[in-house]
Amino acid sequence: MKSDPSSPERSGTLYIVATPIGNLEDLSPRASSTLAGVSLIAAEDTRHSGRLLQFLGIQKPMLALHDHNERNRAAQVLDRLEAGEDVALVSDAGTPLISDPGYVLVREARERGLRVSPIPGPCAMVAALSAAGLPTDRFLFAGFLPAKRGARRSALEELVTETATLVFYESPHRILETVAQISEVMGSGREVVLGRELTKTFETFYAGPAGDVSNSIEADPNGARGEFVVMIHGAKRNPEQGDAEAVDTDRLLQLLVAELPVKKVAKIVAELTGRSKNELYQRALELKPE
Ligand code: SAM
Repeated sequence: MKSDPSSPERSGTLYIVATPIGNLEDLSPRASSTLAGVSLIAAEDTRHSGRLLQFLGIQKPMLALHDHNERNRAAQVLDRLEAGEDVALVSDAGTPLISDPGYVLVREARERGLRVSPIPGPCAMVAALSAAGLPTDRFLFAGFLPAKRGARRSALEELVTETATLVFYESPHRILETVAQISEVMGSGREVVLGRELTKTFETFYAGPAGDVSNSIEADPNGARGEFVVMIHGAKRNPEQGDAEAVDTDRLLQLLVAELPVKKVAKIVAELTGRSKNELYQRALELKPE
């Protein structure tokens, strides 16, 4: 598992290991053999990950690395890597660094030229998107929305016109409030899909217009419990946008052509709009007053 077996001074490899988001069978054989092969496992919560290791029958030294001590602990991990030991990083669930600790460590490891290798696997955001039935060609994952109402509203307002599918993580305590705000800010008709308790016994998808989805959650006795991924259909592209641009270009040509020679007008507007000079020349001729 060393980074470069031909190098005399081999540094260790930092493995970023994805772990299950609910169903333990989702842990890949490669994740398991990687955890069994490293010298040290850095974990967001050593007690939590300790249970996973126990389930796998793996006993390894562990080091707690979480948001509050990452800078300091990263230095310790980097020293061990530089000394030639392989280290695995795991978070409580899913893929480390995805709304989880690890960024400081990975960034620093790369800056020091150390090998960082992902062991891919579960990720709530990807799992939710893959089964939601929303467009996945373009999506914007924005982690957790702010906990405070006002800041959350502003964050949603900034995304109102975003045409990519939007994906967030949300805590069960705020899920109803967040859905209500999505409806207020983005309109009650905006399509929303919530993925709850993915890969677990009570896995549920609630889908529908933002104004109705909270009714489905409220009608379900377990509705607001468990973990949630919130997905929102991107804003519809405004079909009139293209025409509006054409109208503006026409208006510009009209105004300029009344004052300047057609050739000059075509040159200026081509520069401004990036459109073809020949095409604008023809259009300017059409719009030129008699
Ligand atoms: N790193 C993780 C990943 O790869 O998905 C995410 C960690 S983040 C701290 C935890 C959040 O992910 C939860 O609050 C919830 O929004 C979402 N999440 C994690 N597991 C989930 C599951 N089984 N079903 C739905 N959402 C889940």
